[in-house]
Amino acid sequence: MLEKLELIKSKVEENLNNINSISNLNDLKVKLLGRKGEVTLLLRGLKDIPAEKRSEIGKIANEVKIELEKLFMEREENIKQKALDIRLKEEEIDVTLPGLPIPLGAKHPLTQMVDEIKDIFIGLGFTVAEGPEIELDYYNFEALNIPREHPARDMQDSFYISSDIVLRTHTSPVQVRTMEELAPSLPVKIIVPGKVYRRDDDATHSPMFHQVEGLLIDHNITFANLKGTLMLFAKKVFGNELEVRYRPSYFPFTEPSAEMDISCVNCKGVGCRVCSYTGWLEILGAGMVDPRVLKNGGYDPEKVSGFAFGMGVERIAMLKYGVNDLRLFFDNDKRFLSQF
Ligand SMILES: [Zn+2]
Repeated sequence: MLEKLELIKSKVEENLNNINSISNLNDLKVKLLGRKGEVTLLLRGLKDIPAEKRSEIGKIANEVKIELEKLFMEREENIKQKALDIRLKEEEIDVTLPGLPIPLGAKHPLTQMVDEIKDIFIGLGFTVAEGPEIELDYYNFEALNIPREHPARDMQDSFYISSDIVLRTHTSPVQVRTMEELAPSLPVKIIVPGKVYRRDDDATHSPMFHQVEGLLIDHNITFANLKGTLMLFAKKVFGNELEVRYRPSYFPFTEPSAEMDISCVNCKGVGCRVCSYTGWLEILGAGMVDPRVLKNGGYDPEKVSGFAFGMGVERIAMLKYGVNDLRLFFDNDKRFLSQF
């Protein structure tokens, strides 16, 4: 009996390492140690052994059985550990992979445009001034030489809150507000970025849009100063090859007044749909500050002079970025906004 047990044991020791699955291992274990297993049946033969030898043989046989059980247990652990190692390797985290991106917000293209315009003029020594969007009729119109019943009011369809209060139709009211604040000190050298409101709504107009106003008052300011300043601005925004021209125009608060055109950014002046085949694009209005406006602001038009200009931020951004519908800026569509 002991020989048979030893034989079984040595066979098990020999073959156990070739078993690689738990189920195969269990099959063998049942075949040997199960209720009808080979070893179990052998041990049952103990009762046929003479009594004087039975306890000694039984003891050894039992030890072999325990060793066998131990062998099976060790192999089982071993197989499980290997399976775990394989799984861990498959699921291994590669710490060198880039992380999941956290989406970051960005500045709106119009804010970027305003920032760019501000940077240029701040570089020329201008400071940024602000004023209320709900404005007195006086500052929005009258102080700028646009009295009631003046036909120039028709150029700016306005949102009136009462007969004296209006949503500002341009950033120009800040001209007189700033002059009142600073007079009689010189120079007055400001730009005024901000929102303005008019009753317009189509592909190139929005009821709310943005302007940047500029005002420079000092001794001996001439149209040459205006031209030099705006030329530099246009070249910084649209590039150095660009050409500029001025056309006579009319604004009640400047005299003389002009529209400034730049050579078409799309066709370089040859003529295309963007510029209506003229080769030129209008980008802003400007002029020398009207003596009456200077007086309204507290300055003596005999002693000082100045120039002013105003531009639509949306228009500049549309030309610069090639956007054909102004309403895209306000649709809040991320596919559009993320291009800037
Ligand atoms: Zn063109």
